[in-house]
Amino acid sequence: RFFYQGHGGYGSMNSGGKVPLGLKRKGLRIVVTGGAGFVGSHLVDRLIARGDSVIVVDNFFTGRKENVMHHFGNPRFELIRHDVVEPLLLEVDQIYHLACPASPVHYKFNPTNVVGTLNMLGLAKRVGARFLLTSTSEVYGDPLQHPQVETYWGNVNPIGGSGVRSCYDEGKRTAETLTMDYHRGAGVEVRIARIFNTYGPRMCIDDGRVVSNFVAQALRKEPLTVYGDGKQTRSFQYVSDLVEGLMRLMEGEHVGPFNLGNPGEFTMLELAQVVQETIDPNAKIEFKPNTEDDPHKRKPDITRAKDLLGWEPKVSLRKGLPLMVSDFRQRIFGDHKEDGG
Ligand code: NAD
Ligand code: UDP
Ligand code: UDP
Repeated sequence: RFFYQGHGGYGSMNSGGKVPLGLKRKGLRIVVTGGAGFVGSHLVDRLIARGDSVIVVDNFFTGRKENVMHHFGNPRFELIRHDVVEPLLLEVDQIYHLACPASPVHYKFNPTNVVGTLNMLGLAKRVGARFLLTSTSEVYGDPLQHPQVETYWGNVNPIGGSGVRSCYDEGKRTAETLTMDYHRGAGVEVRIARIFNTYGPRMCIDDGRVVSNFVAQALRKEPLTVYGDGKQTRSFQYVSDLVEGLMRLMEGEHVGPFNLGNPGEFTMLELAQVVQETIDPNAKIEFKPNTEDDPHKRKPDITRAKDLLGWEPKVSLRKGLPLMVSDFRQRIFGDHKEDGG
């Protein structure tokens, strides 16, 4: 059995969780760890717009105050600078746990995925809050099954990539294990999302992800760096689709795990071509050596999310890419200094 049905029903302090999205209901108190980051800040925008009270907990490791600054002064918004590796006492109804060193240059030797997740599960248990883990497609490793379904156990090298990639993959796998342990052992209401490569405005500019690299390189008139032969594939999801999926998952009745990603699959060379078409047809391509253990293919099977959450992505790569270009242009060339790291 790889799929778990939720217990249903919130604790006594959680009144409004079951009302369908978009309907009038009492505002919830929601903590978003990593809420000053790329995905988190878009989620916060939606939750605030819906009428909820949001507490962002972030240590600004990769997040930026600029991402949430537009909520300063709103009485329903709070920002706490805190490292989730340390315990935290709050009273909330829901916990979206996104805090994570999310990119290769940041995730070496960092205990956030394990210790931070444990603390947030401890918090959920103490106050009876519903807990959502943002796991990752990386739990499938270099997959031997294509596309990846949630029942696939994955193919991860536990000591791989000179400790670069494996500590992220295994950290998230451990986070999923802890989440299910708290669900089964302590009755905590949990939700697990396995997120596939996501892009959009507010992405870190210099953290080494392929979409942000290509877009920044094309804007700066630098060559697009394709690693390896560029034939490896990824499936790229626009951030608004992901946020919709996360909210449906949190409000729904199912624990998951659920793949949340866009099944549109591209090789890195095809991605480079879309970036050329979108930003600069004259952008050059430069081949560079690939990292060890780089997954060859990745594409989500989203049947489960379609069936049980009524969710599927709406924004294609060709539609979504232009939406992040103006944000990147402004952050790279605009007069206020970029401080993404
Ligand atoms: P991000 O780096 O923009 O956001 C992560 C946030 O967590 C940052 O604001 C960072 O400062 C904060 N953070 C890191 N360590 C912390 C700690 N110890 N205490 C408190 N805050 C801490 O990355 P993102 O792309 O927005 O990712 C959000 C979540 O989604 C992560 O859990 C990530 O693993 C998951 N995810 C993202 C993608 C993607 O393509 N963006 C894919 C798979 C999974
Ligand atoms: N924790 C927290 N906030 C809370 C409750 C717990 O940060 O409101 C932390 C706590 O410090 C511990 C972790 O969550 O490190 C797990 O808590 P739990 O109560 O499950 O485990 P225990 O403390 O009994 O080992
Ligand atoms: N990649 C690339 N050029 C870059 C950065 C990454 O060709 O400048 C490749 C990388 O080798 C991988 C793919 O793009 O095959 C996706 O990398 P990313 O780090 O964005 O995501 P992940 O590997 O975590 O899916």
